[in-house]
Amino acid sequence: MTEVIDVATRGVERGDLKRRLRSLFGFRKFRPGQERVVQAALEGRDTLVVMPTGSGKSLCFQLPALEMPGATIVVSPLIALMKDQTEALRARGFEAIAVNSTMTAAERADAEARLGRDFQGFLYTTPEQLASPEFRSLLRKCAIDLFVVDEAHCVSQWGHDFRPEYLALGSVIEDLGRPTVLALTATATADVVDDVLKQLHIPDAEVVHTGFHRPNLHLLSFETDGDDDKFERIKVLLEQESGSGIIYAATVKSVKEIAERLGGAGLSVATYHGRMKKADREESQDRFMSGDVPIMVATNAFGMGIDKPDVRYVIHAHPPSTLEAFYQEFGRAGRDGLDARCVLLHHADDWKLHTFFQAGRYPSGEDLVNAHHALKRFGGEPPTFEQLTTVSPLPRTKLKTSLNFFRNQGIIKEDLAGKFLLIRDDLDLDDLMRLARHYEEKDEVDRMNQQRVVDYARLRSCRWASLLDYFGDEESRDVCGRCDNCPAA
Ligand code: ADP
Ligand code: MG
Repeated sequence: MTEVIDVATRGVERGDLKRRLRSLFGFRKFRPGQERVVQAALEGRDTLVVMPTGSGKSLCFQLPALEMPGATIVVSPLIALMKDQTEALRARGFEAIAVNSTMTAAERADAEARLGRDFQGFLYTTPEQLASPEFRSLLRKCAIDLFVVDEAHCVSQWGHDFRPEYLALGSVIEDLGRPTVLALTATATADVVDDVLKQLHIPDAEVVHTGFHRPNLHLLSFETDGDDDKFERIKVLLEQESGSGIIYAATVKSVKEIAERLGGAGLSVATYHGRMKKADREESQDRFMSGDVPIMVATNAFGMGIDKPDVRYVIHAHPPSTLEAFYQEFGRAGRDGLDARCVLLHHADDWKLHTFFQAGRYPSGEDLVNAHHALKRFGGEPPTFEQLTTVSPLPRTKLKTSLNFFRNQGIIKEDLAGKFLLIRDDLDLDDLMRLARHYEEKDEVDRMNQQRVVDYARLRSCRWASLLDYFGDEESRDVCGRCDNCPAA
């Protein structure tokens, strides 16, 4: 391993790195932090990179990977992201393959056949794939010199996209012979940073943190009188803008409503949400990316890994549920470094909506006890949902939430006929109460997150200062001159 690294770093002096940046990627200079990360990786030091969305994290692992002789594994949370990145690498003439759950057996066999001692390219995959011992033994045949975890906040239970499969990555890294680890994220809270280092078993990693201030982004927030007022404000904002932009809405229904009203006002809009067919979603995305349609109205399903440099505004028609998600979403504006506006519209009802969701999302201990009792009454004869409603005092939604909860915990199983089989009939009152408490804590965290967004929306002082303070950023705490609470710079 050391020998491999020596070979890799020999001849890659500072000036050379810049030349490689130009010849391999066509960029004239490094952006803040990039060179330091590339150097660290080439020297075999584990590194955690915390940089804002759009700042160029991919290059931080792609450049060293190309300089190192062996294979690079890239763990990526989304299949769409994986596709974009492998295609972009291949377009530049580099070897890049993906292994994920959407591939056909033939495609998979094809990809796997390329893995082996001689494989020097990028392999993009998911934590779910890496959980398979068979897949790992195949990977052990490769000379892996770099292990990349992109969107690394997914590793952390404090990250906003927590995925339990990510927890095993630390052991996966050990199992693959402990290559140099490069983890990248845009989420910088101290909890997440500590957790990522711990989960990936890289406690001594170098942390490269470039700061979160994006001075070209103007932050604004408006308290509105409701939907009509919001729509009027969106229209006024759009009249002032000539470039492309994204309007985020909280639900599929409001995406449709906003798109319809904008369409009615003669504007050309694309939409994107989780309930659209995949082909329609992709078409919508393509039309926005190509500049064919300037306005994208979407739920938060749109955007991770979206790399459109000239987004001039991001409007949130509803508040997002965490400041991390908010920063990630508005951060899609102004990636080219030119001025862009990030506008949050809110209304008193939005906050009620969130608390309503939160109240209904997790069952209470009492709900669980009731639902469990109802299930037990059917003995060995698994009931359907309708049958359960006849014996349970719970309202349908609460019964449903409780059943979902039981299913996620492996306490019941639902068969193909929609009957609920009770697997754990031995749980007593205390067990169920304890389970519910665990979820109440989660609810409490959600509520805290929501409160931070409320505070931001109603803030009377500098918005950037407040965000940077929350993200633990030590730089630029003064007045920014770029938000609606600061005098213009
Ligand atoms: P992130 O993962 O941090 O959100 P990306 O890696 O997707 O960001 O990069 C965002 C954009 O910045 C891409 O278009 C990328 O090509 C561009 N980029 C990265 N590094 C540089 C650089 N040194 N010079 C110019 N453009 C760069
Ligand atoms: Mg990225």
